[in-house]
Amino acid sequence: MQLQPRSTVYDVCIVGSGAGGAMAAHALSQSGAKVLVLEAGDWWDNSKNSKMLSWPYDSPRRGRSTPERPFGEFDACIGGWNLEGEPFTRAPGTRFDWWRARMLGGRTNHWGRISLRFGPDDFKHKSIDGLGDDWPISYDDVKPWYDRVDRLVGIFGSQENLPNHPDGIFHKAPQPRCYELLVKEASDRLGIWCIPARLSVITQPLNGRAPCHYCGQCNRGCMTNSNFSAPNVLLFPAQRTRRLTIRTNAMAREVATDETGQATGVHYIDKATGRDEFVRARIVVLAASACESARILLNSKSSRHPQGLANSSGVVGKYLTDTTGTDVAGFFPQLMDHVPHNCDGVGGGHIYMPWWLDNRKLDFPRGYHIEVWGGLGVPSYGFGGGIQNMPRSAGGGYGASLKAEYRRYYGSTVGFSGRGEQIPNEHCYCELDPEAKDKWGIPVLRFHWRWTDHEHNQVKHMQETFRALIREMGGEPMGEMPSRERGYGISNGGSIIHELGCVRMGASAGSSAVNGWSQAWDCKNLFVTDGGPFVSQADKNPTWTILALAWRTADYIARERKAGTL
Ligand SMILES: Cc1cc2nc3c(=O)[nH]c(=O)nc-3n(C[C@H](O)[C@H](O)[C@H](O)COP(=O)(O)OP(=O)(O)OC[C@H]3O[C@@H](n4cnc5c(N)ncnc54)[C@H](O)[C@@H]3O)c2cc1C
Ligand code: SF4
Repeated sequence: MQLQPRSTVYDVCIVGSGAGGAMAAHALSQSGAKVLVLEAGDWWDNSKNSKMLSWPYDSPRRGRSTPERPFGEFDACIGGWNLEGEPFTRAPGTRFDWWRARMLGGRTNHWGRISLRFGPDDFKHKSIDGLGDDWPISYDDVKPWYDRVDRLVGIFGSQENLPNHPDGIFHKAPQPRCYELLVKEASDRLGIWCIPARLSVITQPLNGRAPCHYCGQCNRGCMTNSNFSAPNVLLFPAQRTRRLTIRTNAMAREVATDETGQATGVHYIDKATGRDEFVRARIVVLAASACESARILLNSKSSRHPQGLANSSGVVGKYLTDTTGTDVAGFFPQLMDHVPHNCDGVGGGHIYMPWWLDNRKLDFPRGYHIEVWGGLGVPSYGFGGGIQNMPRSAGGGYGASLKAEYRRYYGSTVGFSGRGEQIPNEHCYCELDPEAKDKWGIPVLRFHWRWTDHEHNQVKHMQETFRALIREMGGEPMGEMPSRERGYGISNGGSIIHELGCVRMGASAGSSAVNGWSQAWDCKNLFVTDGGPFVSQADKNPTWTILALAWRTADYIARERKAGTL
């Protein structure tokens, strides 16, 4: 960490060091600005901290989860669904989950690296089907920054020329694995597009980073920096400018403003001392993740901003969305007792299915993409649990017969996960809880959530499609199709970890918090570069768009600074 005197006035203070914060920090420090990043979590460097090369037997826990690593003790994300001393609340009847990272780089340390551009229709869907809202910007406005992100960060994929699934500047994609070939053949027969995945994993050298060596452990963080994580790919290179300071364990609580309503800096808690600190900055960029940035804004009340900062329209916290999701696993007898074969690859699927249908013939709007999982991953704690319940099982047993069972079934399941677009609705939002506070006394968020028939019908279609695919592959779906009463197996709001909205952009100050540059209407030296400004989801994961928009906003800030208007 580079230390600066606490009296320093920074050109830009960025809150949060995940996808949106790190990209803004990289671009702004390159542009000549003196930048401070405030990060609520601790330091993290994949080159040193990653457990990429650990075997399960290196730990007595065999990789079992810990309270601060719910996805397993080797996972690279410190955080979870519940953080000690940092509660959130839910309105009665609400089922909403909130994953929060607390570390340098945020969720980019263990994310799935599925890196999809939004397509032209995704920015203008209201004009197509009348639902939700159009963005004030178009795909063409963002395309140059998608291209830059592709070149800087690196991504593999294939040129497909499909409508609304724009191609990028890709490294060569890895070949499908054995089970993925089965999926591909079945998809082709059913008329479902099945193409190479698009992941931010490099398969050729890039900016001093080595290409992937296919160990399959991306979620543990990559010691060779062959995949994208914000610290190693953006923050550490940006530190070489000597204009970037990173202050960890700094929990922002409020943006301060002056009598004219402009931002003057950020109040934060130094978690090491518990003391309230203040840092002065000419420009503030919030990138604490969509809901957390909304929380900071709502907590930044003043006489000029009585409803919270950037909230004269009252939309902060509103228009919250997540990706829809459901999963089906299948059992494949032909994959039992297989000849041992090389199933190495990246830590994610080598194929995926982009949305392929026409909604005019369906009973739901918008689409979903399909992610595929299976294969011969490194066995870890809990591996093969419930093996006695597998179809045709001899009952599990003990000792040698149990080991034999594990070997027979190893690699015989393949699963499908649908990831679809939710339309924003008035029942999904967050607000400040009138009573609850975190351990530093900062008011916390209360969530409200309700899926509509749009999402339920979409998820029903996912379930039917996955079951058809499994049968077409010669397998048996595991588990019955969930009933309508169980929402066809739809995930809880927030549980796909793609929360977007809450600080949405728009064409007018009356209906949005920020403009098309993610600049607050009410406070021109305040910007938001996480998923908050998103007007809508898409049938794609959001992070590549967060990165592109953050860089675009940073370039705008740099331009305005140069022009002397900021
Ligand atoms: C398991 C998993 C898999 C995923 N897979 C994919 C995928 O394949 N593709 C995809 O596109 N997306 C995926 N995502 C989502 C992706 O990780 C997020 O979209 C992305 O990281 C969001 O970036 P962000 O900058 O908004 O937030 P984050 O990455 O969460 O970063 C926010 C940062 O802000 C810090 N912070 C929070 N509050 C404060 C505060 N008050 N003061 C100071 N700092 C604060 C946090 O500690 C954190 O470091 C996945 C997420 C998870 C958890
Ligand atoms: S699969 Fe490739 S990118 Fe992922 S951790 Fe291993 S070497 Fe790194």
